[in-house]
Amino acid sequence: MVKNKKPGKIWSRSQLFAIIVEVMGRKNRSDTTATIAELQREISDFVEVRKWRKFHNPKDLSEAIAIESGELLEHFLWKSPRQAHRYLKGKKGRLAVAAELADLLILIFNFGQLFGIDLAGSLQKKLEILKKRYPVEKFKGRSDKYRPL
Ligand SMILES: [Mg+2]
Repeated sequence: MVKNKKPGKIWSRSQLFAIIVEVMGRKNRSDTTATIAELQREISDFVEVRKWRKFHNPKDLSEAIAIESGELLEHFLWKSPRQAHRYLKGKKGRLAVAAELADLLILIFNFGQLFGIDLAGSLQKKLEILKKRYPVEKFKGRSDKYRPL
């Protein structure tokens, strides 16, 4: 377990990584039990108590999402698809990638809640659109992008 520091002290990069490994390795909630609303409440509490709400606008949250996406990509940079799979199978890689996905989810859930975008509904509608855009009979087993006529 990573030792507690005095409040306000800055963690080193290796200490932060040790915290990620320790915390991300725990079994808590799961996708089958948590609701988006519940997660959004928890994120909101986290933000409110730190008085960070004033920094959260659509532009900066979008930029943060792009930056966190880059952090996710960084784990796979210069790896072949096979090496990327292997990295994800290892405990360290898996926990680090899970932490980056969580960063993205925090930002996305926060964005949705702050600006009144229902994420589950949006996801469902987008899937409907994608089903129409990529009919199974035309795109099964194909990775080419849809091109309008
Ligand atoms: Mg990150």
